[in-house]
Amino acid sequence: MRAMRLVDIGKLQLMDVEVPKVEGFEVLVRVQSAGVCHSDVHIRRGYVGKVSIKNLGFKLPLTLGHEIAGVIEEVGDGVEGFVKGDVVVINPWIGCGACYYCKIGEENLCDNQKQIGINLDGGFAEYVKVPHYKYLFKIKNLSPVDAAPLACAGTTSYRAVRKADLDPSKFLTVIGAGGGVGHMVVQIAKAISGATIIGVDVREEALKIAEKAGADHLVDGSKGNVTEEILNLTGGKGSDAIIDLINSEKTLSIYPFGLAKRGKYIMVGLTGADLKYPSAMIVFKETQFMGSWLGNQADFIGVMSLAERGMVKPIVTKTRKLEEANEALDDLEYARVTGRQVLIP
Ligand code: NAD
Repeated sequence: MRAMRLVDIGKLQLMDVEVPKVEGFEVLVRVQSAGVCHSDVHIRRGYVGKVSIKNLGFKLPLTLGHEIAGVIEEVGDGVEGFVKGDVVVINPWIGCGACYYCKIGEENLCDNQKQIGINLDGGFAEYVKVPHYKYLFKIKNLSPVDAAPLACAGTTSYRAVRKADLDPSKFLTVIGAGGGVGHMVVQIAKAISGATIIGVDVREEALKIAEKAGADHLVDGSKGNVTEEILNLTGGKGSDAIIDLINSEKTLSIYPFGLAKRGKYIMVGLTGADLKYPSAMIVFKETQFMGSWLGNQADFIGVMSLAERGMVKPIVTKTRKLEEANEALDDLEYARVTGRQVLIP
């Protein structure tokens, strides 16, 4: 089968590899669509934040692609409830089931996590092997193209929005609101919280996507005094939650100052800058800083259920052939993309 693989840092290569064999609880999925995430850009560059992928346990060659939807081709003899022909989305973050975090339902923090497209071959290929059927979700109403980005962008956003603890009296600011994850954060917050949403981005076309996703206010982060703008929009109070999809030196030096008292700063982006913020302000304002990492099964099922009911839908701005994976990653790296791109094998 054809697969776009990272053999060496810098570029994916089209290769011919064997179709995986499945047994036990495993499932073979024929990939119909695979979303392209900015994390794939970080991995192709060889660094996630400041850490080399070699120190993160990546083993090359590796087929990237962790946002996958497709049709079941074959099931192992231990699989229940799924048969050949079912159309599914894959939760790519597979827990071991035995560690403390899996036992409490936080598979996203598993000590021995299998990650499709990260430490197992992923969906930039014609077929992908899923280690356990319980990480599949059958789709009926969604197309595979619309469904694939939910696997990571959707699940990650759902968890971050849950952490924001919003209600209709609150304000949420989303930094990077026109990107693949950011526009899903906006949609999910709109669908489940009733909060007022401020979408921040640095490109006009990305701000349009944030607006389409449902942001109530738009702030161009490349112009003016953005903290003042956030304070004005929130009646001087500041934002009750800020979800930062970037976490660069720039965003971390500006946006924490836009937090309300008891505000939550939720870090999702993997640029990896250091947080420098006066601890006295954390004490006086009772602010909280926290990370949000991927999503557990409840987050995955939560966002898939919202999408199947038509309450959220990824904005897929471009579909491309599998062989164009490098061009898709280039466009993402150099900010020529809004919403999500999807590859079709
Ligand atoms: P993307 O490139 O699609 O979107 C990023 C958006 O941020 C773009 O619209 C861009 O214009 C905007 N932006 C850039 N600089 C900005 C600034 N200074 N202020 C405001 N907006 C700015 O990327 P994506 O796929 O949405 O991923 C975003 C980040 O989230 C990446 O670092 C990715 O690795 C990370 N990520 C983290 C998790 C997690 O579990 N924590 C999961 C998935 C992705």
